[in-house]
Amino acid sequence: MEYSPVSLTVLGSGSAVPFQQRASASYLLRCGNSCVLLDAGFWVMERLEQTGTTFDDIDAIFISHRHPDHCMGLIHLLFASRHPSCQRTRPLKIFGFNGLAGYLEEFRSLLGSWIEPPFALEVDESTSGSLGPFLWQNFAVHHSQDAVGIRIQCYEKRIVYTGDTGYHDDLIAHCREADLLIADCGASRHQPLDGHMHVDQILHLAQQAQVKHLLQSHFYPETEPLSQQKTRNFRFLCQEATDLLTIAF
Ligand SMILES: [Zn+2]
Ligand SMILES: [Zn+2]
Repeated sequence: MEYSPVSLTVLGSGSAVPFQQRASASYLLRCGNSCVLLDAGFWVMERLEQTGTTFDDIDAIFISHRHPDHCMGLIHLLFASRHPSCQRTRPLKIFGFNGLAGYLEEFRSLLGSWIEPPFALEVDESTSGSLGPFLWQNFAVHHSQDAVGIRIQCYEKRIVYTGDTGYHDDLIAHCREADLLIADCGASRHQPLDGHMHVDQILHLAQQAQVKHLLQSHFYPETEPLSQQKTRNFRFLCQEATDLLTIAF
């Protein structure tokens, strides 16, 4: 079988609070000609433009939960799609948390045709499925109601995105042997934040799950960065996400 390289570009390594030029949560996962957006936070359109990605390049958008720092960029994308410069005609799949269809319907009742794109939207609340080379499975996390993380298999590569979550032991099985773990680190050791992990917890998770590469993300100003921790003894690669960072593997 011929494999296409897999890459992940961080579009937004931040959270709800703007700082250090970090946009809200969003990641672009590519394999060959296939392209999926994992969350669509504030500034996603600006970041897509910076990577030279057009709306038509995106096959599907995954939305982990209903917090604005993970999905308001979707409203921006849909509004922008009404401009004549948007050439897309093929349907766009939006998948994610249970309740997503009703959530989008509420925006439609508020904004009406302003967010009705000139192509079909296919909203899918399934907990697993496939899309091109991607096989995906959602898993429940400890955050807002209905919030999910996602585990994606692409050929022999495994990517796990926790979305927003507090630490819980079930995460270890979901993240098991991931080639890349994108981990929410919105909390601080000294300033716990309900529904988010801090740096010691993501290191523990990555170690227990035997991942190959840990990417710390969803920064708040108080998040302790991995670069200031002692990580030399860990057998996996530790890295802080920054906007527009691309990891190919
Ligand atoms: Zn968030
Ligand atoms: Zn959240």
